Amino acid sequence: MSEHLAAVPFGETGTLPPFADWATFPFTGDLRVKPFETPVLPEPPRAGAGGVDCEACDKPDEDFLWSDDHWRVGSTREPSGLPAVLFLFPREHYDLVDLPPALAASYGPMIQRVERAYLSLGGIGRVHQNKWGDGAEHLHLWFFGRPAGMLQFRGSFLTMWDDVLPPIPTDQWRDNLHRIAASLAEGGGTAYA
Ligand SMILES: [Zn+2]
Repeated sequence: MSEHLAAVPFGETGTLPPFADWATFPFTGDLRVKPFETPVLPEPPRAGAGGVDCEACDKPDEDFLWSDDHWRVGSTREPSGLPAVLFLFPREHYDLVDLPPALAASYGPMIQRVERAYLSLGGIGRVHQNKWGDGAEHLHLWFFGRPAGMLQFRGSFLTMWDDVLPPIPTDQWRDNLHRIAASLAEGGGTAYA
């Protein structure tokens, strides 16, 4: 644990950071920071640790939008506020830190392909990627597209706006996924959506 955190008495709360006043912050009103919890060490294993009972490994290709020999692209199970939320997975069970060199070399081009496929929908201001991996061990990169012109949704709070906004109509969402899968398949691989 870093020294500056060790100096914080657990159970106390911090003050709100400046971003609480930013135009892009989704919330207003009387907000308070939660009490800091004590560290948990060693940390509990993540879902699918070691490739055992790993959802990303176990799902058939047909449950994804698109796949090829090395990569698979999926989405959330239900529509959310943004046009689509996508995930890029290696087919085999790796985290980023242990991705073999050949797969690591194709990771960048795959990120570019998924971003281009998302942008092919039109009306997208920006596509953001996030790799957290705190929940599941199998590498999965998130893609969030910001609707063009929605400057209030700029930046990292887009992930919160995705949950705050009402879900887009299911028909529109399925059409978006179909078009993204078709766009990916133009460069090879198989589309399933
Ligand atoms: Zn896995």
